[in-house]
Amino acid sequence: TDPAAIRNFCIIAHIDHGKSTLADRMLQLTGVVQPRDMKAQYLDRMDIERERGITIKSQAVRMPWEYAGETFAFHMIDTPGHVDFSYEVSRSLAACEGALLLVDAAQGIEAQTLANLYLAMEHELAIIPVLNKIDLPAAMPEKYAEELAHLIGCEPEDVLRVSGKTGEGVDALLDRIVEEIPAPVGQPDAPARAMIFDSVYDTYRGVVTFVRVVDGQLGHREKIQMMSTGVTHELLEIGVSSPEPEATKGLSVGEVGYLITGVKDVRQSKVGDTVTSANKPAEAIIGGYEDPKPMVFSGLFPIDGSDFPVLREALEKLQLNDAALNFEPETSTALGFGFRVGFLGLLHLEITRERLEQEYNLDLISTAPNVVYQVTAEDGEVLTVTNPSEFPEGKILEIREPVVDATIIVPAEYIGAVMELCQSRRGQLEGMDYLSEERVEIRYKMPLAEIVFDFFDQLKSRTKGYASLNWQAEGEQAADLVKVDILLQGDKVDAFSAITHRDHAYAYGVKMASKLKDLIPRQQFEVPIQAAIGSRIIARENIRAIRKDVLSKCYGGDISRKRKLLEKQKEGKKRMKMVGTVEVPQEAFIAALSSD
Ligand code: GDP
Ligand code: MG
Repeated sequence: TDPAAIRNFCIIAHIDHGKSTLADRMLQLTGVVQPRDMKAQYLDRMDIERERGITIKSQAVRMPWEYAGETFAFHMIDTPGHVDFSYEVSRSLAACEGALLLVDAAQGIEAQTLANLYLAMEHELAIIPVLNKIDLPAAMPEKYAEELAHLIGCEPEDVLRVSGKTGEGVDALLDRIVEEIPAPVGQPDAPARAMIFDSVYDTYRGVVTFVRVVDGQLGHREKIQMMSTGVTHELLEIGVSSPEPEATKGLSVGEVGYLITGVKDVRQSKVGDTVTSANKPAEAIIGGYEDPKPMVFSGLFPIDGSDFPVLREALEKLQLNDAALNFEPETSTALGFGFRVGFLGLLHLEITRERLEQEYNLDLISTAPNVVYQVTAEDGEVLTVTNPSEFPEGKILEIREPVVDATIIVPAEYIGAVMELCQSRRGQLEGMDYLSEERVEIRYKMPLAEIVFDFFDQLKSRTKGYASLNWQAEGEQAADLVKVDILLQGDKVDAFSAITHRDHAYAYGVKMASKLKDLIPRQQFEVPIQAAIGSRIIARENIRAIRKDVLSKCYGGDISRKRKLLEKQKEGKKRMKMVGTVEVPQEAFIAALSSD
């Protein structure tokens, strides 16, 4: 295809503002999906995407569009909207020349609208402002067109108004794409360079790699090379998604399509990497390649210890399709054998856990998630701590924790509530701007650890659901952090150790000790529960001793009833874990680890 007839664009929006629905209408209007095959959120293929109504993986679709007697080829890239997947969003943007900035006409600009807009501006994309959902009775297109025009510096009349649901205004939008988004430019005769913006594992076809060709061309059966690793593969298939895969002879400058090489692991086809031709390799990789960096770690343990091999296999399978997932075996005295797993964020953790439970039928316990700390021990050695159990004993010179720049958008009446919450989470106010008279953008620098765990829920409840939040990693800072251990009868229970700010340590210790007091049954001897920082005890509870006699419950001489009780007790024993000399039912661990 002649690059002059190509338009590459993505749709960027705050979550739920209607990207996937608008994409559906485009698939229909351009005729690539027949009405009888249409289903809502057509491009959200994964079960979990359909269930949660969110987009996790990017998608690229080629669609034809007639404009002034000429046929154009559109490549639309539907991007994941969540902050956990922002690196993928940024790669998708890098594959485009333009972006449709979609805003819900009943909601207005939200935090991810801004975050995505700024990303699009960094990539120098042409931006087409669009108000969506104008069919809603609550839509206020005039008001929000002004907000949007003000934000990007255009006239309110330039803001398109559409409904992804009814299709109103969508054909005008498709025309605007031809008019306003520049055609791709590249060097057709240069060595091939194509950027990977997504790769997915397909049971039948192996890894399917989505690329945007920048220079040169890639052809069927060609030998390709991954520039970050130098590894070569033969191209078994090359083609475009329309939206079903269609094999072609090749892809040239500006085109977006897929490659299949027969590899079975997405980590060999990394998002952000550059594909070149092995016989005539290019010199420079496109853009800066980054390895996905896990931000949050948690231990995952099977409730039934014999499921450990199943869990390993399941994680390995998920990893085929998720280069950001990494894990290593971990042993806990309390929870047995499991894995320490690194995630991009809490949504990534939740989704992974849900998939493990649903697709692999596993019952799991996950330990309280924590961020990554840089700990300088007394001898000057710097340790990267992803698990409280790796926290060095002895004196510590410094602990550094990750920090983020957070942006919160709320109606002005909630400024006080938001500031109070952010201050209580060790936030530092960085700035505040009014988007309009009623709505304000508040910026804070905050520790990541304070924002990933239940901050958003708190924010929502304090603002009646009106606040939206976005953040991005912004380096590290030294902080007064300590490790709190929980001890039963003097023995550490590793699964309950946590790294917290010194000011929160006492509260954590008291909470865990009193939870455990209620959860652990009395034993034949007294069991002290202690919370400690190093050797200093900061909280203490006691479980009083009893003499346990199951048979005392049986009044009569019913022997079968007695036998049943004894059997029941035996079964119960299997689910008991020994911590030192203390028997703890596994349920107690699960209950203590579940957040309240
Ligand atoms: P995404 O998260 O941006 O992909 O948003 P979705 O396309 O999944 O849409 C979120 C919700 O808004 C869904 O319940 C859609 O049915 C609804 N929605 C999307 N577009 C429109 C629209 O134009 N009008 C109305 N009334 N609802 C819409
Ligand atoms: Mg979506």
